[in-house]
Amino acid sequence: MKKKREIYVNNFQRKLPTLYFADNFCTLNIEKSERIKFFMSDCIFCKIIAGEIPAKKAYEDDKILAFHDIHPVAPVHILVTPKIHMDSLNDINKSNIEYVSHILEKIPEIAESFGTIDGYRVITNIGKNGGQSVKHLHFHIIGGKKLPVKLG
Ligand code: 5GP
Ligand code: ZN
Repeated sequence: MKKKREIYVNNFQRKLPTLYFADNFCTLNIEKSERIKFFMSDCIFCKIIAGEIPAKKAYEDDKILAFHDIHPVAPVHILVTPKIHMDSLNDINKSNIEYVSHILEKIPEIAESFGTIDGYRVITNIGKNGGQSVKHLHFHIIGGKKLPVKLG
């Protein structure tokens, strides 16, 4: 069997060691005994979460990272991502739903902290026809101005 290449790095506020495997997956040492599949090494948002690519952080906790979109379409344009790799909302299941529900719980707090007092829009694009360009689940928080016409 081909030997896996392992690289340890530290990331996140909790400074936990992350173990990267050459087969695209890695595990995070959440507790010494418990390791979960965590990142995909070729995913740009996984790299942002790991601190390998810089991003302007808007909010962070142990389950989620929110950062400002590199090409904002409104004064407030924040992307909220789970700290585990899921391609899109299509990947939701019993083992990862807590990350998604936590995102939904935090969105109003994040949006309001950037002054979206009179409302905002939350979008998650799914797949090619849905216009998804980065295949790591993310919710766009868009606001800070009167937004243009809705799609539906
Ligand atoms: P999607 O089209 O997948 O729904 O949204 C992806 C979003 O990610 C786009 O709005 C795009 O501007 C943003 N984006 C892509 N690459 C980066 C990056 O490296 N940094 C940040 N901050 N945003 C990115
Ligand atoms: Zn990812």
